[in-house]
Amino acid sequence: MGEHKKFCHCCGKEFAMNGDMYMEEFLHIEKEWGYFSDQDGMNMSVDVCEKCLMGWIKNFKHKPELQERAEL
Ligand SMILES: [Zn+2]
Repeated sequence: MGEHKKFCHCCGKEFAMNGDMYMEEFLHIEKEWGYFSDQDGMNMSVDVCEKCLMGWIKNFKHKPELQERAEL
């Protein structure tokens, strides 16, 4: 425990944990950049909190697709 600490790469806040469980949700992006990228050969890992994500998405030309899940 403790080594799993993660933080929002955008605003820097630490995600609250209870034991091994994160008490909030965040976006986790992993990208293996390849040949058509300037980052060719790099593996990138980024975590972004919900607040930063929503602020980011607000400026998108096309809104994300949202679909309500039918919970069981
Ligand atoms: Zn953030």
